[in-house]
Amino acid sequence: MKQPSQNILSQNKTYKIDITGLTHEGQGVGKIQGFVVFVDGVLPGENVDIKIVKQTKSYAVGRLVKINRSSKDRVKPFCPVYDKCGGCAVQHMTYQAQLNFKKDTVLQNITRIGGLQDVKVNDTIGMENPYKYRNKVQYPVGCDNGEIKIGFYETRSHNIIDSNLCDIQPDESNKIRDVVRNFCKEAGVTIYDEKTGKGLLRHVMVRKGFKTGEIMVVLVINGDKLIKSDELVKKLLEEFPDIMSIILNINTRNTNIILGDKNVCIYGQKYISDYIGSFRFEISPLSFFQVNPIQTEVLYEKALEYAGLSGNETVFDLYCGIGTISLFLSQKAKRVVGVEVVADAISDAKRNAELNGVSNVEFLVGEAEKVIPDLYAQGVKADVVVVDPPRKGCDQVLLNTLVEMQPQRIVYVSCNPSTLARDLKYLTEQGFEVMEVQPVDMFPWTGHVETICLMSKK
Ligand code: SAH
Repeated sequence: MKQPSQNILSQNKTYKIDITGLTHEGQGVGKIQGFVVFVDGVLPGENVDIKIVKQTKSYAVGRLVKINRSSKDRVKPFCPVYDKCGGCAVQHMTYQAQLNFKKDTVLQNITRIGGLQDVKVNDTIGMENPYKYRNKVQYPVGCDNGEIKIGFYETRSHNIIDSNLCDIQPDESNKIRDVVRNFCKEAGVTIYDEKTGKGLLRHVMVRKGFKTGEIMVVLVINGDKLIKSDELVKKLLEEFPDIMSIILNINTRNTNIILGDKNVCIYGQKYISDYIGSFRFEISPLSFFQVNPIQTEVLYEKALEYAGLSGNETVFDLYCGIGTISLFLSQKAKRVVGVEVVADAISDAKRNAELNGVSNVEFLVGEAEKVIPDLYAQGVKADVVVVDPPRKGCDQVLLNTLVEMQPQRIVYVSCNPSTLARDLKYLTEQGFEVMEVQPVDMFPWTGHVETICLMSKK
């Protein structure tokens, strides 16, 4: 039979390939006969043998067979299940090399996509101790031959890797999982099966306030009751007196979405508290909260520095989530207006402002590209605008409005260097100048790059 025309690579052959870059997910990228190939577990500068495991019209995926030339940046991963687990992608790279790589990625995007030369990109601000940095974990729960598994999904699959140590989580999260696992075994709690939609326990979520030490445990269940829940509460509290909140989250839908809408508190409060800088936040099971609180503070301090406020400015914080950046900015601004599309996040934002006695912020629900043109039409302008959009970047209508509005400064926080570069290109063509670009490592051992950029009106 004739092969479909896109299958230009053979699945039976071993190919030698030079790895030239990494994706934001930490996959190595190279080319065979001009065709892009993605490979896990390899590094730029390496030459490797691979087998093709998948191909589409525009790219192929290869599996590493042998390393012919190894990168000087290669190290042995610290995690025993690194090869299988889909959590971290670049543990086989020294931490310093990750930081260099992230800076380089930003620089390349800005020059290639953004067409900007001579832009100052600072060294990535990394973590002094890039371990145990996550304040939230959501373990999927499954059952394999009668064995309860609570762990992480394998790369690009729903098989669960159960290891009792994950070094990017705090120790408590690892241990709480063991207590829950033992309890389920003893109490005969059934485990949810994605295929049949039967069984009770679906996920275990643990959140920890790094500054307060407060811990929340959430069991996501396909039902509304957990048998012997008193016993579980007792066991958890015996070992972890810092647990302030134990919640059953009810999720009876057959979907990939982890949390349901309804929460039943079976111990303590409905929320835990934590601080970013001097601001206190109440975090409930469904609240969005940045997962690396240490680097979040670094990022927000930078945002405040770049905003260059004197106390007289009106500032827009667009894509504001629960208003964390808005509160930071409120310290030095006359007035802050936060805009966010998710109504629940805006309710949290308002409550957070109240909780902290901040009265010079307002929050509006809606798409930034609708709300801001409306405000502008009513004569409301900002002196400084902060944007923190999702991966797809800012909407063109929003950018056009900012160009017309002519704020003194735009501070752009981005989780995707390519859309950042695209938007910078437009803004620099329309009268803004890039002053400084600062990558911040929010997610050590993953390929993700967070960047903050200061632009001024020319
Ligand atoms: N600045 C916040 C959150 C940034 S995440 C923080 O630092 O915590 C990006 C946010 O943009 C999400 O909360 C998402 O809900 C919101 N969002 C997505 N599209 C939007 C749009 N068109 N207008 C306004 N907000 C949007």
